[in-house]
Amino acid sequence: MYKRVLLKISGEALAAGRGFGVDAVFIHEIASEIAQVARTGCQIAIVVGGGNFFRGVSEQAIHMDRVAADHMGMLSTVINALALQDAIEKTGLHARVMSAIEMHEVAEPYIRRRAIRHLEKGRIVVFAGGTGNPYFSTDTAAALRAMEIGAEVLLKATSVEGIYTADPKKVADATKFDTITYMEIIKLGLRVMDTTAVSLCKDNNLPMIIFSMREMGNIVRVVQGEKLGSLVTA
Ligand code: UDP
Repeated sequence: MYKRVLLKISGEALAAGRGFGVDAVFIHEIASEIAQVARTGCQIAIVVGGGNFFRGVSEQAIHMDRVAADHMGMLSTVINALALQDAIEKTGLHARVMSAIEMHEVAEPYIRRRAIRHLEKGRIVVFAGGTGNPYFSTDTAAALRAMEIGAEVLLKATSVEGIYTADPKKVADATKFDTITYMEIIKLGLRVMDTTAVSLCKDNNLPMIIFSMREMGNIVRVVQGEKLGSLVTA
């Protein structure tokens, strides 16, 4: 069983099939799973995406300056983080949003030592604002924060069971990898996460588990060491 983990939740997951915004029911289901993990004694930090509101590389941003569009994307993650913080606190646990972009009225600034302190005190930390820099993704932010806080594993919750040879929603005979290396992901051109995030994990020996969070209870199962999804190693 893991003692400290970093969970990456995409914006799309929070929209739960609605395509846009935050699903008011699903966010409470995720929050209760996260609370269950914390109640088992595992320290858990979360990086949230923002794709359910805005992506710097989306169609909507095609005529925009990339940096301005990415700023909008990063602000979207703050909305999701606040929603998640609220849902987690409804379970009776304490949560703190730490933002890579300073906005004192709504979130704490990201300070590594303070984040670790929150975790040690049993608070759930939600990292917002990605890395705080344009041209990056929240997957890269997840890899970065996981390493900074000394997480043992990066857990990436998705809508599919793991990493497949091809998109299982499109290719019927696509097969799942139980284990795979970061190098194989790059060589095979699998679009699991962007290459910046992949190489960061690879260079720093950070293991990652990709699993489906469609099935309730999976986050707890993965944290308790059950073999779900695909394990990626350096
Ligand atoms: N973003 C950014 N820098 C970061 C993280 C995110 O500029 O460090 C922006 C980028 O425009 C991205 C958007 O925020 O498209 C939302 O993040 P992402 O696409 O990673 O969210 P997800 O797909 O996980 O919902």
